[in-house]
Amino acid sequence: MTELTNLTVAEIRDGVAAGTFSAREVASAFNAAVEAGRALNAYIVETPELALAAADAADAARASGDLKPLSGVPIGMKDLFCTAGVQTTAASHILEGFTPPYESTVSGKLWAAGAGMLGKLNLDQFAMGSSNETSAFGKVISPWRDASGKDLAPGGSSGGSSSAISARLCPAATGTDTGGSIRQPAAFTGISGIKPTYGRCSRWGIVAFASSLDQAGAMARTVKDNAILLETMAGFDAKDSTSLDLPVPQWEANLSSDLRGKKIGIPKEYRPDGLNAEIAALWDQGIAWLKDAGAEVVEVSLPHTQYALPTYYIIAPAEASSNLARYDGVRYGQRVLPDGAGLQDMYAATRAAGFGDEVKRRIMIGTYVLSAGYYDAYYTQACKVRTLISRDFEAAWETCDLLLTPTAPSAAFPLGEKQEDPLAMYLNDVFTVPASLAGLPAMAVPGALNSAGLPLGLQIIGKALDEQGVLNAALALEERAGFTARPEKWW
Ligand code: GLN
Repeated sequence: MTELTNLTVAEIRDGVAAGTFSAREVASAFNAAVEAGRALNAYIVETPELALAAADAADAARASGDLKPLSGVPIGMKDLFCTAGVQTTAASHILEGFTPPYESTVSGKLWAAGAGMLGKLNLDQFAMGSSNETSAFGKVISPWRDASGKDLAPGGSSGGSSSAISARLCPAATGTDTGGSIRQPAAFTGISGIKPTYGRCSRWGIVAFASSLDQAGAMARTVKDNAILLETMAGFDAKDSTSLDLPVPQWEANLSSDLRGKKIGIPKEYRPDGLNAEIAALWDQGIAWLKDAGAEVVEVSLPHTQYALPTYYIIAPAEASSNLARYDGVRYGQRVLPDGAGLQDMYAATRAAGFGDEVKRRIMIGTYVLSAGYYDAYYTQACKVRTLISRDFEAAWETCDLLLTPTAPSAAFPLGEKQEDPLAMYLNDVFTVPASLAGLPAMAVPGALNSAGLPLGLQIIGKALDEQGVLNAALALEERAGFTARPEKWW
């Protein structure tokens, strides 16, 4: 008997269409897995009834010959996407109990394509973090374990998505990526995930963190599944002024791991002294795999790479401080109104009680770098450096088509290990933020297990709008890596 929860999105879609199993059987199997997987804390809200309703619609659609692209596919939805009638919290107490009357464009497209929702996935609070420990709804635990037996971080901020996919609590999920939140959790849990070009997916209805960086994307176990999901998620939306008015390519149909004629750049600045030896070895292996797929490999230089992290940690908090000003106790979620309090007191009390420590840290940094006295020294300067980082990529594209790098500087670390040290936590993003600052498509794909038995990932970065090139190179890696490891069930 097929283990239904081990099927990929493509296998579910095709199996439902062929009548190999019903969509209801698939949804029921995943609903049971979600329930049995509660120890991972991957879901904030479970919506088994919505998964079943979509499944029944898919089974009816099959009977009437009316199947849609994702009919019968149940997915997890990061709890940063507003979902009509279903609590949306961004993993913050300040939004606890907030039930949006509207649907985000991206989630709406997925439902319209026939997908069903298993639940809302946990995340770092307001998507700020790299370990899913800043959630007001508790840490997410990775299903992976090493010999220490300690609970490991699933990465962040899309840690509920990564944990749930690798534990087979959903076949695929949405993520959002501001500085690496799709790619780093994918790397930590042995799955793949793609952040498309900035503007490909509408940001409308996604709780905003840093608007010039935020992008929705897909997370799943295979490159093909990512292509399938992203094809539905992407597309122009008049409700988002930064949405790109371009047709959505047929990424799935055009998947090809034949890389002949492609040049892959290896940025030398991504190999700092002290780079983890197993990650360096996997990177070398990745180079060999891409050559085997027909690509030519060249060394390139992205000279401003070392400034990407500090630049990101000025720009992202600056935008966050502005975006999060809306949580004032008046319009959304929580309100704290002490006896006899005035309006200002209510704002302060609500925000003090509602936001977590990391969110407060970002708001304070952001407010500081935007303040009259320091704006030029920090924010303006960071914007200039951001332009230099974009120009580095432009220059690299003169000699190559795509870049290959590691995804994260380490494998998953134990929960609690970096929680008290924000700078150590921010270093997780060193390989992912440059593509975010430049708005480029980038994808993480699992490469190997390290000596402790934990997954390590590789990253492909592409030119703006070249998701196809990114997916194809990732597919070439996937085929050669043959990564089939999955966490042993302990939960
Ligand atoms: N880890 C990064 C941060 O904390 C990136 C988060 C994200 O991409 N949403 O800001």
